[in-house]
Amino acid sequence: MKQHKTILITGGSRGIGRSTALELARRGMAVVVTSTTEDGGRAVVDEVRAAGGQAAALVLDVRRVERFAHFREQLTSSLQALGSGGLDGIVHNAGFGHYAGIADVDVATFDALYEVHLKGPFFLTQALLPVLSTGSQIVNVTSATTRVATIGVAPYAAFKSALESLTRAMAKEWGPRQIRANAVSPGAIRTELGGGLTPEFEQQLAAQTALGRVGEPDDVARVIAALLGDDLGWVNAQCIEVAGGYVI
Ligand code: NDP
Repeated sequence: MKQHKTILITGGSRGIGRSTALELARRGMAVVVTSTTEDGGRAVVDEVRAAGGQAAALVLDVRRVERFAHFREQLTSSLQALGSGGLDGIVHNAGFGHYAGIADVDVATFDALYEVHLKGPFFLTQALLPVLSTGSQIVNVTSATTRVATIGVAPYAAFKSALESLTRAMAKEWGPRQIRANAVSPGAIRTELGGGLTPEFEQQLAAQTALGRVGEPDDVARVIAALLGDDLGWVNAQCIEVAGGYVI
């Protein structure tokens, strides 16, 4: 019998992904974190292990869909090494930001945003379906820019909106396998995304937020962890904004 849940977090090397890995480990889950670089996930794995948790790191570029079958094999080996019978959840968290007005977005940037934020999560989930356990869960990290039109992030927001739509489709299609799918939609979070927040921009965002500050990665990690725990088992096909009351 399985002792613990094991969760895959894409983009687990820093920011929200790193915080999520540490929070899940605190709650007794094993984690597999990914990075595009060989060393990217190592520090997080060390942190989890130092705190008594179980973790592994794998290299993954979510744009490289042709490598997903090979990634599944590597993941299967990691699951065995962690003593896990299967995969209990995927957090599609990998992402990047790019600021440009619609008039200035080039095709290569548009395609990269599409591949990382929509095509990657779609085909990675498809590739991992054989190892997803009954009762497992998919958490798609989207963005409050799907609700609040924001100048400079049009393609990013459009693909995150599509990911929210995909979340509902996944929940419906895989409900018979008891697989749940939810989206977590952060407001502005203090990470390195898009080069990080300038003090002026942070002040502006805080002023538009009911709770008067921008978010920290842990604010989002706790919500993802709660969804992946047992208490929220009847929450399905939802998009939960985690933004402290941003533009309300
Ligand atoms: P960070 O820049 O701190 O971290 C991004 C992570 O994504 C890194 O681990 C990076 O891995 C990984 N990554 C980037 N590109 C790829 C790729 N092609 N394939 C695989 N992994 C990749 O960002 P955040 O923690 O802020 O962002 C996490 C998620 O939250 C993203 O989906 C983002 O869109 C979303 N979000 C963030 C908000 C914010 O204000 N910060 C607001 C709303 C949503 P590495 O560099 O190690 O390869």
